[in-house]
Amino acid sequence: MDLLVVGSGFFGLTIAERAAAAGRRVTVIDRRHHVGGNAYSENERSTGIEVHRYGAHLFHTSNATVWEYVNRFTAFTSYVHRVYTTHKGQVFPLPINLGTINQFFHAAYSPSEARALIHELAGEFDTKEAQNLEEKAIGLIGRPLYEAFIRDYTAKQWQTDPKNLPAEVISRLPVRYNYDNRYFNDTWEGLPVDGYTAWLERMADHPNIEVKLNTDFFDESQPLHKKAVVGQLPIIYTGPVDRYFDNSEGELSWRTLDFTEEVLDVADFQGTSVMNYADADVPFTRIHEFKHFHPERAHIYPADKTVIMREFSRFATRDDEPYYPVNTPEDRAGVLAYRELQKGERDVFFGGRLGTYQYLDMHMAIGSALSMWQNQLN
Ligand code: FAD
Ligand code: UDP
Repeated sequence: MDLLVVGSGFFGLTIAERAAAAGRRVTVIDRRHHVGGNAYSENERSTGIEVHRYGAHLFHTSNATVWEYVNRFTAFTSYVHRVYTTHKGQVFPLPINLGTINQFFHAAYSPSEARALIHELAGEFDTKEAQNLEEKAIGLIGRPLYEAFIRDYTAKQWQTDPKNLPAEVISRLPVRYNYDNRYFNDTWEGLPVDGYTAWLERMADHPNIEVKLNTDFFDESQPLHKKAVVGQLPIIYTGPVDRYFDNSEGELSWRTLDFTEEVLDVADFQGTSVMNYADADVPFTRIHEFKHFHPERAHIYPADKTVIMREFSRFATRDDEPYYPVNTPEDRAGVLAYRELQKGERDVFFGGRLGTYQYLDMHMAIGSALSMWQNQLN
């Protein structure tokens, strides 16, 4: 073995694939029973409908290198992601666009009229100076739209006062003064034609790659545990950075999600793949209806059944899957302390969402793994 990769998410698999292609022998371990990390999907048993086990995953990128790379393993459908939100019994299109603004204000504003209105409403804060999510959002869209669509949804999703969340979180949501309601701005988007798991398994399918599942890096009863291997060979670690150091600089805060899945005897539950629920009185953040991700599979999927999944968000305890870094000011101080400790770990490379404590999309995890391979490991 020339390289040990801890974690078989997109970051770990990209490193493993590149290293294997360059002739290195790689072992990938994962504590779960499957490869792929949070992008893993499987077909719901009674309907055959592909369900993204850890929440809906939409692939999108403007990075040509990443797009070329991922297309080596899968073709993509022409799916374009669109999201709607329910607020006070009405459905509005997202991201906030001219349709949302006109419906909300019962108006027929032109793009320039809407821009002038929002400019007036948003005067409270300058987005460039915004210190936190609330200031940034109000500076972008004004208080009425912020309170309707962002404040309570964000509070449900993060259980943190938006004043303590970084402004970047909201930068992911564009505001548009036209009727374009594509959720993402990227050049390319789509879903893997034969599913995420087929794509992920192809990345690991190389004679130089050995995958060991149900294998925890910290479990001293298995031979590839931390104490036995650190310093012996290069290690790519994509688990939580705080866990690696036994939480010595404090536990970083993560959010986890609970999903409740239901198979319903209806052809179509909500008419779209993702419906957000903006209001505080609905306990979940959104409902995913998976058949809508693959309209091209309509002839394969049952016409009279559908699979829906409600998503609930809460703080992670030590026993939960850490999904999203919360990133409060205390967390950011903790991350800096862990970065210092990392310098003392010979030949251990920290990567991915959990290893760097960053809100990374799939294309970013793949892109940063390609850069790490190129610049530090090749
Ligand atoms: P992960 O996929 O988290 O993989 C890390 C792996 O390490 C896991 O398999 C874990 O089991 C393993 N591991 C951890 N600790 C240990 C240990 N001690 N020993 C062994 N193995 C260990 N991105 C998008 O581009 N579009 C989306 O729509 C999107 N939606 C998302 C929705 C949700 C709910 C979540 C949580 C993420 C979403 N993402 C999305 C982000 C996407 O999941 C990540 O970009 C991608 O999974 C990053 O891969 P990774 O390898 O860094 O981490
Ligand atoms: N957001 C919101 N209302 C919505 C959708 C998103 O306030 O209806 C905010 C929320 O703070 C969220 C951020 O925008 O964390 C980014 O949204 P996105 O849909 O990208 O979140 P993800 O899919 O990664 O959970």
